[in-house]
Amino acid sequence: MPGPGDVLELIRDRGPLTRGDVLDMTGLSRMTVSTRIDALLDAGLIVEKGIERVTGGRPSKRLEFNTSHAAVVAASVDTTHTTVALTDLAGRVLAEERVDVAVADGPDHTLNALAERAKALLTSTPGVERVAAIGISVPGPVDPDTGRPSQPPIMPGWDAYPIAEHLGDALGVPVLVANDADAAALGEQRVAHPGSRSLCFIKVSSGIGTGIVIGGQVYRGTDGGAGDIGHVKIAGYDDLVCQCGAHGCLAAVASGRAVATALTALGKPAASGTDVGAYLAAGDTDAARLTQEAGRVIGEVVATMVSLLNPAEVVLGGRMASAPLLTGVRETLYPRSLPRATRHLTVSLSTLGAQAATVGLAALVVDREYSAAAVDAVLSR
Ligand SMILES: [Zn+2]
Repeated sequence: MPGPGDVLELIRDRGPLTRGDVLDMTGLSRMTVSTRIDALLDAGLIVEKGIERVTGGRPSKRLEFNTSHAAVVAASVDTTHTTVALTDLAGRVLAEERVDVAVADGPDHTLNALAERAKALLTSTPGVERVAAIGISVPGPVDPDTGRPSQPPIMPGWDAYPIAEHLGDALGVPVLVANDADAAALGEQRVAHPGSRSLCFIKVSSGIGTGIVIGGQVYRGTDGGAGDIGHVKIAGYDDLVCQCGAHGCLAAVASGRAVATALTALGKPAASGTDVGAYLAAGDTDAARLTQEAGRVIGEVVATMVSLLNPAEVVLGGRMASAPLLTGVRETLYPRSLPRATRHLTVSLSTLGAQAATVGLAALVVDREYSAAAVDAVLSR
C-alpha cells in the first residue's frame, strides 16, 4: 500500500494537488489519504496553499511540496574554478559564491576550500535552518556504485578519491557526487524543458562531456561513463594528442582547449574554453569561425547519439555555447541523422548557463533525500 513517502512523491511530481486529486490518483481510502497527508503536513514536508473555489462546490486547498523544508549546498567543481551555491529544494539559488580553486589543485585543497565557503554561506544566509545534503559535481566520470571519480582524464589525484567521506566529515550532512554534465542535463530538463522527458546536454568548455536524461532520470551507464564523448576517436586527426594521452579524440579536435590553441597560432593568445568564450563574446571572427568548425565535428558525434537515443532535446552548454557552435553542430547533425530521429528534435543553447549544474544538483539531492523510501524511513521513526 502506498505510504506517505509515495504520496509526497506524487505531490512532488504532479502537484499542486487537492486531497481529492490524491484520493483519485492513489486509490487509497479517504481515511488513509487523510492520515498520510496529515503526517506530511506535520513533518513540514508539504504545505497547503491557496483556495480554489469551484462554482457550487466547496473550497479546496492545494497541497504542494515545501521547497523551503531544507536547503541544498550545491558545489560545481570546474576545471578552472568552483562555484558554491545554497539553493532551496526547487533549485532556486539563495546565495552563491565563486571559489578560485581549480580541479588540478587536487581533491584535498579543493574540497577544504569549498567546505569552508559552504560553512560561511550557511552562516551568512538568513532563514536556512536545515541542510538536506551537499551535492557536488566534478568534471569527470563518477562510479555509480561508489560515488567516487572513475579514472577521470583531466582530474589529477582524484581517481577513486572518497569525496563524500571528506565533505561529510567537514560539513556533517549527507553528500551526493555527480558528473558535471549529468547534473547540468538534469537541471536543463527539469527547469528549462520540463515537457521533454529525454535530453542530451553537450558541455563544450575546455573539455567536452555529455549528460543524458532518459525518462526524466539521469542515465549514468554501468561505470558512470555514459556520454563521455570527448574521447571518441575522430578519423583523420591522429596527429592531435589529447589530454588523456590518446590521439585524435574529439576533445583534442573540437574542445575549447583545441580552439584556444588554434587561436593562439593566429596571434590571439588563449589557453582555455573560458578564454575562447571571451573572444566569442567580443565578436571575434576567428573565434567564431573556429568554433563553428569545432561544432561541425561535434555534430558528427552527436548525430550518433541522436540516432541511438532519439532524444527530444539536444542542449549545448559550457563556455563555448554560442551561435557559431550551434550553427556548426546543426550543419552536420541533421544531414547525418535519419529524419525520423530528428523530426521532433530541438537543438538549442543552454538557457540556465552556469547555473544548470547547480539546479541539477538540487534536483538530484531532492530525488534521493525525499524519495518515498527515505521519507517513509524518517516518518516511521
Ligand atoms: Zn582523449
